[in-house]
Amino acid sequence: MSRKKRVKHIFVTGGVVSSLGKGILSASLGALLKSRGLRVAIQKYDPYINVDPGTMSPYQHGEVYVTDDGAETDLDLGHYERFLDEATSQACNMTMGKIYQTVLENERRGEYLGGTVQVVPHVIDEIKSKMLELSKNGSYDVIITEIGGTVGDIESLPFLEAMRQLKLQYGSKNLVNIHLTLVPFIRSASELKTKPTQHSVKMLLEIGIQPDVLVCRSEKTLSKDIKHKIGLFCNLSDSDVVGLCDAETIYEVPQILHKEKLDSLVLKKFGLKSSKSADLTDWITLTDKIKYPKDGIVKIAVCGKYAEYPDAYKSIVEAFVHAGAANNVKVEISWLHSEDLENGVITAEKAMDGASGLLVAPGFGERGIEGKIEIVKYVRENNIPFFGICLGMQCATIEYARNVCNMDMANSTEFTKKTKYPVIDMMEHQKRIKLKGGTMRLGNYPCIIQEGTISYHAYQKNLINERHRHRFELNNAYRDQLIENGLEVVGTSPDGVLVEIIELKNHRWFVGVQFHPELKSRVHKPHPLFNSFIAEAKNYRDGISVTHDQPLFDNQMIKVDNQS
Ligand code: GLN
Repeated sequence: MSRKKRVKHIFVTGGVVSSLGKGILSASLGALLKSRGLRVAIQKYDPYINVDPGTMSPYQHGEVYVTDDGAETDLDLGHYERFLDEATSQACNMTMGKIYQTVLENERRGEYLGGTVQVVPHVIDEIKSKMLELSKNGSYDVIITEIGGTVGDIESLPFLEAMRQLKLQYGSKNLVNIHLTLVPFIRSASELKTKPTQHSVKMLLEIGIQPDVLVCRSEKTLSKDIKHKIGLFCNLSDSDVVGLCDAETIYEVPQILHKEKLDSLVLKKFGLKSSKSADLTDWITLTDKIKYPKDGIVKIAVCGKYAEYPDAYKSIVEAFVHAGAANNVKVEISWLHSEDLENGVITAEKAMDGASGLLVAPGFGERGIEGKIEIVKYVRENNIPFFGICLGMQCATIEYARNVCNMDMANSTEFTKKTKYPVIDMMEHQKRIKLKGGTMRLGNYPCIIQEGTISYHAYQKNLINERHRHRFELNNAYRDQLIENGLEVVGTSPDGVLVEIIELKNHRWFVGVQFHPELKSRVHKPHPLFNSFIAEAKNYRDGISVTHDQPLFDNQMIKVDNQS
C-alpha cells in the first residue's frame, strides 16, 4: 500500500428509512479496507442530546456498548469491534449532547470572547474539530464516520453541515460520502423502485452535498438498468451505485460489498493503489458455518426483562453466533421474559423444555428479578449448563444464598434495603457517587482466575481483562459463608477484593461473571467462555458427560484471543 500522508475520510449517511444497516455497512467496509492493508478506525455521530446512551432505557436505544476505556456507547461500536477486531474508545462515539456540553463549557469559560454563541459557526466548528480528532494521532489511514439518523431529520443537520464544510476543505480525493438508501421492491408492480433513493439524494443536494457513492439496500439484486437509472438521476456514474441485497447473515455483507467492488471503488476515489487484494477466506468459512451448521442446533434459553427486544442484548446474540460457528452448531435463542416466570405465566421447567443451557442476562432494577432467581434454581438443581452475566451472576449468588445457605430472603440492596442478608451490595466507592451518567465501574479491569476451574480451562490462562458496567458486587461480608456452603469464588480482582467469577463444583457448567464477556467476542475470535458454554450445552444436548479437568473447547482450532 502506498501511504499518502493525509488521512482519508469516509462519511456514511443514510436515507429513506432508518434501520438500513449503516453500522453494518461501515463495519463491513472497514473490514474490507483493513484486509487491503489500510489502518482503519470507525466513529459514530449520534444526533440526540443525551451526553451518552448510558442513562437511556434499552427500549429506547438497545444495548449500551462499553469500550475498554469505559465509554458507554452506541451498539454500532460493537459491530465495528466485532468486524474489524480493533478496540474502539471514548473518541469513537460522539453525541450532539456531548458537542453542546463542550460548547457550553467553553462559553462559561469565556472562550468565545464576548461573541454570540451560535450553531453556525460555533457548534459546527466543534463538530468538525471532533470529527478530525482520530485522524491526528497518526495511527490510521482511513477514518469512517457514521452519521446516525436519516437525511431529512432536523437533528442531524449540524453533522451534515460539518461534513459539507469538511468535504469542501478536503476535496473529493480525501473525503468520500457514501449514502445508504433503500430501493424497495413493490410486489404488486413486481418492480424495484428508485424514487425514494432519488428523493433522499435530492435532500442531500439541498444542503449542498453530492454523494460520491450510493449503496442501495434491496430485496433483489439491482440490475445494470436500475443502477444506470439511479446513477442518471443522482448525478453518478453507474459504477458508483452499489447494490446491497438482503443477506442471510450480517457476516455475509463484507463478501457482498466486495463482489460489488466497493473497496476498490473507494480506493480509486482516494487515488490509492493497493497491492493487496482482500482476503475473505475467513469470512467465507464463517458464513458457511453459520448457514450450514454441521452439528445441528443447540437451543439456549436467555432470560432477561427486555426479552421482546433482542437489540437490548445485541452483543450476547452475536457472541452466540460466533461461538455457535466455532462449535459447528447454530445457537437458537429462546427468549424468556423474567416477568413471565415471576407471574406464573410459564414455569421454569416448561421454559427450559428443549433448551440445553440458560443464560441470565445483565440488567438493572427490580422488575423480573424473582423470575430470574427461580429459573437459576431450576438449572442449578437439574444440572443444566448455566451462564450468568453481571446481574445474572448476582441473581445466581442470591439464589444460592437463599436456597443452599439458608439465608432467607437474601437479596441485593439494589432491589431492597430491607433484607437481612444483603449478599449483593453497592461497591464502597459507588456509595459516594450522586451523578448517574458515566459513573458506574466501567471498562476494562483485570481478573485473576484460579487454575483447574471451568473458567481457567476456557481462557487457558490466569490473568484476563474484561469490561465492566455495574455498581453492585458480591458482598464480602458473606463471601466465607457462601464458600463454606460450596459456592466457588474462582476469579477476583488482583487484590482479591472484588469477586469477578463464581462457579459450582458439583455442577456440569455453572459460571457467573461480574463482567461482560460478550463485549469482547469478535467475528474470528469467539469469546472463550461462550465457546466453552456452547461446547458444554452441546454435550448436554447429546447426553455426553465430561469431567472438568480439561478444556471443553479446543482454542487451537480457532484464533481465540485469550484476553491478555
Ligand atoms: N444492576 C447491577 C449492578 O449495577 C448489574 C449491572 C449489569 O448487569 N450490567 O451491579
